[in-house]
Amino acid sequence: MSTNFNLNNLIRANVRKMKPYSSARDEFSGTAQVYLDANENPFDTGLNRYPDPHQKELKKVIAKLKKVKPENIFLGNGSDEPIDLLFRAFCEPGADHAVFIAPSYGMYEVAANINNVTYTQVPLTSEFQLDTDAILLAAKRKNGALISTKLIFLCSPNNPSGNLLDKASVKHLLDSFDGLVVIDEAYIDFAEDKGWLPELAEYPNLVVLQTLSKAWGLASIRLGMAFGSAELVAVLDKIKPPYNINELTQQAAMKALQHADKVQAQISELLEERSKLADGLRPLPFVIRVFPSKANFLLVKTTDARKVYDYCLERGIILRDRSKVPGCEGCVRVTVGTPEENLKLLEVLRKLK
Ligand SMILES: *Cc1c(COP(=O)(O)O)cnc(C)c1O
Repeated sequence: MSTNFNLNNLIRANVRKMKPYSSARDEFSGTAQVYLDANENPFDTGLNRYPDPHQKELKKVIAKLKKVKPENIFLGNGSDEPIDLLFRAFCEPGADHAVFIAPSYGMYEVAANINNVTYTQVPLTSEFQLDTDAILLAAKRKNGALISTKLIFLCSPNNPSGNLLDKASVKHLLDSFDGLVVIDEAYIDFAEDKGWLPELAEYPNLVVLQTLSKAWGLASIRLGMAFGSAELVAVLDKIKPPYNINELTQQAAMKALQHADKVQAQISELLEERSKLADGLRPLPFVIRVFPSKANFLLVKTTDARKVYDYCLERGIILRDRSKVPGCEGCVRVTVGTPEENLKLLEVLRKLK
């Protein structure tokens, strides 16, 4: 654990001082016969009442599933919301700094830019692993001058490379950095790895992001999860929009989480499909390398990414061209689809000369 870590010192002064909005459902949270406190329409539509601003029932279910306490869970409108709130809570616009790895998920940059927070992107190694010295240096200095870095964003399995980040390297960052280390685990359900949630109690500077958008098959309901110390969760709670998780989302999430076995079966099938798809892609003449993946997609290095992308597009199959991303020259990213979809893709690609 980093010895100089102090969450309170990281919080922006205005956030530390402010009083959060107190909703009608904050000021009364029991059950009653008559609710005349929130200016709702009293006629029952099933959706006429404001949702639980603290998502108590949903957090109980997630806590059990993830083996953490409810007070260690923050729920957001997708992972994108906690990503944005971390900047808003901790990074003073125009002053504080963040460090990202490259290549990685594009939303960290967007959130930093929206919040006017400067950042440094530290390239991963050729095998997409962490250069911890370069990351720690980037957190300390920019163009020689000392800077105040509040957040380091990691992603494991990383998008778009698909690999898990080396455990010892991540531990080194957690031990050495006095700010928050955010590990985005959007794809952890595909990784056959326990990820970083079991280490939460050990590292007060650790934030883990997960989502229902990928393995759970619920991208459209927008439910992201941030796990951290109770103190950290309280900071995000303080600045979130009061009713950020709508009732339909809470209901759909509750229902899906009761059927974890069904999702597990889909994950097993997708892992098998991932391996078949990689085997099918590897011998194609224009494929240079299929990178090893612990996620539900494959990063594929080709001789001409644009040609592969356009050829598939013309035949109704949409890939993600990542060839303009530094470190991904020549690469397309392919999501693992249903068995039929994957066969169709291979059939199309075998005709590409
Ligand atoms: C898809 C993805 C997410 C998910 O974002 P949501 O807002 O929860 O849908 C988060 N992080 C990474 C790296 C992703 O690829």
